[in-house]
Amino acid sequence: MTGQRIDGKQVSEDIREGLKNEVAELAARGIQPGLAVVLVGEDPASKVYVGSKAKACEQLGYYSEVHRMPKDTSQADLLSMIDRLNKDARIHGILVQLPLPKHMDEKSVIDAISPAKDVDGFHPESVGNLVIGDDSLLPCTPAGVIELIKRTGHEIRGKHAVVVGRSNIVGKPVAMLLLREDATVTVCHSRTKNMQEITRQADILVVATGRANMITRDYVKPGAIVIDVGINRLDTGKLAGDVDYNDVVDTAGYITPVPGGVGPMTITMLMKNTLKAAKALNPMS
Ligand code: NDP
Repeated sequence: MTGQRIDGKQVSEDIREGLKNEVAELAARGIQPGLAVVLVGEDPASKVYVGSKAKACEQLGYYSEVHRMPKDTSQADLLSMIDRLNKDARIHGILVQLPLPKHMDEKSVIDAISPAKDVDGFHPESVGNLVIGDDSLLPCTPAGVIELIKRTGHEIRGKHAVVVGRSNIVGKPVAMLLLREDATVTVCHSRTKNMQEITRQADILVVATGRANMITRDYVKPGAIVIDVGINRLDTGKLAGDVDYNDVVDTAGYITPVPGGVGPMTITMLMKNTLKAAKALNPMS
């Protein structure tokens, strides 16, 4: 039996359609969600991401600003840009595109963003709220992963979920969100022993390693939900996930493709967060 493909593009479009109603409700109160994206330097992948974010804003009727700063921008200048955006009432979400040039300290830049406008969910206060279980701004890619699992129609509660990868931006927050959904969660990483034995127990397997095609069918329990976060550029120029899709598709129950799986969800969840921030910053009186 072939695993069902989870179409992240379609799910994204459905969610964005739903957001349009909420945007209209806010517009009736004279509020337009506003997102500011700050890009320092010329990283080609970042330029593409920033362009897609601006396009998504336009599509949904958000106000958006893109601030392109030269790669030799000083940290002080970047911090004063963030300070200005923190105070700007038109802006509800601030996203500083990572990675930053090497001379900058990423942590102090993230710390400078107002938690109320932290639509990437990377500020320590947002991370704390994620762990505590508060209704905060959730990191976009992990929140997208959870949405995709839910779209299969299967309950997360009580399932064994295995996350491969423990980065601060993907692995750890995905694990925390799965725990919040009442899964039993195991996290694997590069020092995990006998990883195959663990991943083969997973009802839900989320992979975020940055190692192209590393998960083959030998790692997958028949019928499992497999979510591939990886985006890897092969020497051929093609994109590949961390899961070998063709090898795994007949074993998995559900599987996300790359591209067209988790990727499109990330920007959609960013749009959702910006809307949520706009509402929280403009409570109904
Ligand atoms: P990191 O490099 O920060 O983390 C990778 C994690 O995978 C680490 O925890 C590492 O373990 C673990 N790992 C690496 N090799 C192995 C292995 N052989 N076996 C088990 N674990 C391993 O990557 P990110 O989390 O930032 O990103 C992961 C992937 O997701 C990348 O392909 C990235 O491009 C993609 N990505 C996609 C996004 C999207 O929008 N779809 C958004 C963000 C990322 P250890 O901690 O021990 O080193």
